[in-house]
Amino acid sequence: MVDLQGQYEKIKSEVDKAVLDVIQSAAFINGPEVKSFQADLEKYLGVKHVIPCANGTDALQIAMMGLGLEPGDEIITADFTYVATAEVIALLRLKPVLVDVLPDTFTIDPSAVRKAITPKTKAIVPVHLFGQCVDMDEIMSIAKEYNLAVIEDNAQAIGANYIFRDGRTQKAGTIGTIGCTSFFPSKNLGCYGDGGAIFTNDDQLAAKMRMIANHGQSVQYYHDEVGVNSRLDSLQAAILRVKLPRLDQYAEARRKVADRYDAAFKNHPNISVPVRSSNSDHVFHQYTVVLNNASRDELRKFLATKEIPAMIYYPVPLHLQKAYRDDRYSSGSFPVTEHLCANVISFPIHTEMREETQDFIIENVLAYFKK
Ligand SMILES: *Cc1c(COP(=O)(O)O)cnc(C)c1O
Repeated sequence: MVDLQGQYEKIKSEVDKAVLDVIQSAAFINGPEVKSFQADLEKYLGVKHVIPCANGTDALQIAMMGLGLEPGDEIITADFTYVATAEVIALLRLKPVLVDVLPDTFTIDPSAVRKAITPKTKAIVPVHLFGQCVDMDEIMSIAKEYNLAVIEDNAQAIGANYIFRDGRTQKAGTIGTIGCTSFFPSKNLGCYGDGGAIFTNDDQLAAKMRMIANHGQSVQYYHDEVGVNSRLDSLQAAILRVKLPRLDQYAEARRKVADRYDAAFKNHPNISVPVRSSNSDHVFHQYTVVLNNASRDELRKFLATKEIPAMIYYPVPLHLQKAYRDDRYSSGSFPVTEHLCANVISFPIHTEMREETQDFIIENVLAYFKK
């Protein structure tokens, strides 16, 4: 699905040097590379504070802890997402309130968010899914109206630009109260292990979340809050510093692959290509199509015989996962998500895709339907 080796080959000398420098300095934890990466990312995103942490799931958890939410407080999020989003809500004994997504962009449906609000609602967690931004104009206006915090789950859309209705643009993850991202190797800005970060423009919240990520201390051995231990290590920061200046170019490479898939599949009766929202550029973390009147399993099996991988993101809606079953929901509760989970398929997309490789994938997808 991705070509991390091919990407590494192109930046090998820079990465190797950065890694060796850290090893020689022996400043593995909280070294200068972490602070430099933090500053680089703040500048790139145009956000006041970046708080590096251990992974994207921790980023979401620390964000929710930073908001001082109480057990039972309700958090509204999308039913169609990676489990981490709901996992941390449940882990903190907050109440996940799931809502359906829009059938075209697969992102949270703002009108469903509005309907799900109760006096206990404290926050909304929009997920910028597959590389495309949620309708943040709507989400921010709902948040303002009901005085809710917004935590953007930006694990899949780092680098994407959100385009407001008035034409202003802002980086995904910097619009809400807090933004969270992941540097898992296959994400658009991936390190060579685990990593994550939190973004905010709020000074007080930044100080609090920085403290929570560091065992609840701002002065060593004086613990003001129950915190966690969540750090980005210096080796990962050094690698990310090499990759960050290439992030826009990587997004461009992904868009080129998406354009070629679109051109090949757009008029196909059995394939609906991704819809691109006018509110957002798309950084194509995934290239995900919806199949119509076709057997997804059979297509996947056929592609596997040609050694072409294809993945299902995500096969089961959150509300039907064993761990997240709840009397409030049943089969049929979220028809759009249920339809997507049954019919989406994602094809390989990455920054090093060669045209011949992609043509081979395209030919075989089309060949399957001609059988
Ligand atoms: C990857 C991902 C996360 C979690 O990131 P990790 O670094 O793997 O913990 C959270 N939310 C979404 C939408 C993701 O895709």
